[in-house]
Amino acid sequence: TVASSTSVDLFELHRSQTPVPDDERAAALASPRFGTVFTDHMARMSFDQSSGWHARRVEPYGPLQLDPATAVLHYAQEIFEGLKAYLHPDGSVWTFRPQANAARFARSARRLALPELSAADFLGSLEALVRADRAWVPGGEETSLYLRPFMYASEPFLGVRPSLEVEYLVIASPVGPYFAGGVRPVSIWVDQEYHRAGAGGTGAAKCGGNYAASLLPQLHAYDKGFEQVCFLDASTNSMIEELGGMNVFVVKADGSALTPPVSGSILEGVTRASIVALLTDAGHEVSERPISLAELREGLSDGSVTEVFACGTAAVVTPIGRLASDDFDLTVGDGGAGSVTMRIRAELTDIQYGRATDRHDWLHRI
Ligand code: PMP
Repeated sequence: TVASSTSVDLFELHRSQTPVPDDERAAALASPRFGTVFTDHMARMSFDQSSGWHARRVEPYGPLQLDPATAVLHYAQEIFEGLKAYLHPDGSVWTFRPQANAARFARSARRLALPELSAADFLGSLEALVRADRAWVPGGEETSLYLRPFMYASEPFLGVRPSLEVEYLVIASPVGPYFAGGVRPVSIWVDQEYHRAGAGGTGAAKCGGNYAASLLPQLHAYDKGFEQVCFLDASTNSMIEELGGMNVFVVKADGSALTPPVSGSILEGVTRASIVALLTDAGHEVSERPISLAELREGLSDGSVTEVFACGTAAVVTPIGRLASDDFDLTVGDGGAGSVTMRIRAELTDIQYGRATDRHDWLHRI
């Protein structure tokens, strides 16, 4: 593995005096539900103009006290990340490409006019928290400890300008397999009315506002009986961008694969980049290029597109079985999980869980 320097030793540990009792923790770890239960601690740093980033600490998990004028509550100056810690068969704990999340967090900070956090502090905060809450890393199949770093404008001030005070925290939540009962294809509504991001906007940043913008279209899709929304580009309303929380791949009958390029309006997924590498390793020709909805519809209709899947940290790889909108309704392949999709899913999870050689040096030991 690539050794990265981290500031883990600078984090002061203030242990919780009221940790979750062992039996309750064991019950939570046995059937974790995404984002509902949190570990005993949280990592934290503070920023102000005179000290920069300071006060590295791990403290008991608990509520934040916010002045009602706190800037984030008004102007949404906020960013976050999402990654997982995996327990390996030998008892060691690893994160997957955390340097990529650190780099994306720094890019998001720049776009939201927040102070950048160094990669050393990003990695150090994750390590400090996971070491304190090591007993919370679940060991069941496809379980992990989901890590949620985030940063918000904490200055109590209603002027519209970058906050002079910022808080950074990491919280952690044990999670189970995204699909209880096995991987299953999802149905996607291609939204031709709403967009999540536009050219020059914040689509490439992982900021809360992007997700707020996706909620209403997501509700509309649920109401129509679909599970997720696929957004099109806001400039031409004709190019495939991504889902509300996942990137998209298209697999063709000739074995080649396509994924929309990192255009500035989609999130540059760590899973997406990893799958480009794994598909390439496996001899697939992979193109990162614009894919029009018209091209995708035609390919699904004439059989030249055989698989479509979505990918992201939470669900890893998700087959898409149906794509529809106001003016079309198409089944992908036979509507089941495609073979390339399921093979790439297995390859990726085998690396993450330490069942296969980490030939790209993607894992980082905690
Ligand atoms: N797109 C969006 C909008 C997302 O929120 C996510 C999840 N972070 C992704 C794509 C996938 O990114 P990753 O593979 O880094 O989880």
